[in-house]
Amino acid sequence: MQDRDRVWAIGVDLGGQSVKLALVDETGRIGPRRQAPLDAGQAVEHITALIVQEINTLSEDARRAGLEPVGVGMVMPGYMDAARSKLVFAANLPTLNGTDFLGVIRRSLDLPVVFDADSNAAAYGEYRFGAGQDVDRLIVVAIGTGIGAGVILGGRILRIWNHIAGSLGHVIVDANGPACRCGARGCVEAHASGPVFERRAGELADAEPSSRLAALRAASGRLTGVELGQALREGDTAAAKVVQACGWWLGAGVASWSVIYHPDKVLIGGGIGALGAPLLAAIREGLAEVGQPKATQHVAIEAALLGADAGVVGAAALAMAETETNSAMSAT
Ligand SMILES: [Zn+2]
Repeated sequence: MQDRDRVWAIGVDLGGQSVKLALVDETGRIGPRRQAPLDAGQAVEHITALIVQEINTLSEDARRAGLEPVGVGMVMPGYMDAARSKLVFAANLPTLNGTDFLGVIRRSLDLPVVFDADSNAAAYGEYRFGAGQDVDRLIVVAIGTGIGAGVILGGRILRIWNHIAGSLGHVIVDANGPACRCGARGCVEAHASGPVFERRAGELADAEPSSRLAALRAASGRLTGVELGQALREGDTAAAKVVQACGWWLGAGVASWSVIYHPDKVLIGGGIGALGAPLLAAIREGLAEVGQPKATQHVAIEAALLGADAGVVGAAALAMAETETNSAMSAT
């Protein structure tokens, strides 16, 4: 099939530091893409104009290449209003909170636009194109600064409150555990978010100065998930201990989610997801150790496939789904 015979949609992933865009085809393949840095402190008018300009440029590029996008999907962190037309709150996009910037974007474009939470987009993208295809009950988790997740049931995004399936990162796994930034205590996020992995890596590097963790910290002046991953691949036992300890708590989180959603599969993504097989093994171990056997023994824990493109690919998938729904409705 020729590129111009395929269905294309534009996916837009708005974050606190950049806006990423890609033209994505009906199989999930990425065509032309763009990325613009974003200063989240700037006024809403400025950020809105930047987003509109980037979308228009990409859609003009597409049309010049003979590709006609059917719509735009735009996703972002935070909570939206009931009509998904207003961003109610996103901590890392302060000037956009409560404004009508989504309405301005919609009115500025000549394509239909659908807005959604980035966690929903990542989950739907995996369901449609990634490691979650045809999975009836699917949870897709992104572990980064926080722990976010989307839930797909029977091919549909589960929307319980503010269009999300719940705050899965803030399920309490350790009622006497550390305080979480959300105000609760012992959330899975307080035990296994990216910053916790990094903090534990620092502690292990202090305790084991001859470890690769300590050497990489000395060489690069930092100890992030990237250095942790490198030490892990080089067989460092200190790095393995960090991943084992934090991953175990993620397993406890999956155990809790399992008695609520009974997933067939849980996909692990986000920056920390790149730690790969040792992380998945630790999660499975925690799950088997603490979970209710009936609810957890069939749950498959696997790596998410879309990686850093989860936002744009998922957003484009949502735009395609919207178009399909609309054409099915007009056909009846
Ligand atoms: Zn919390």
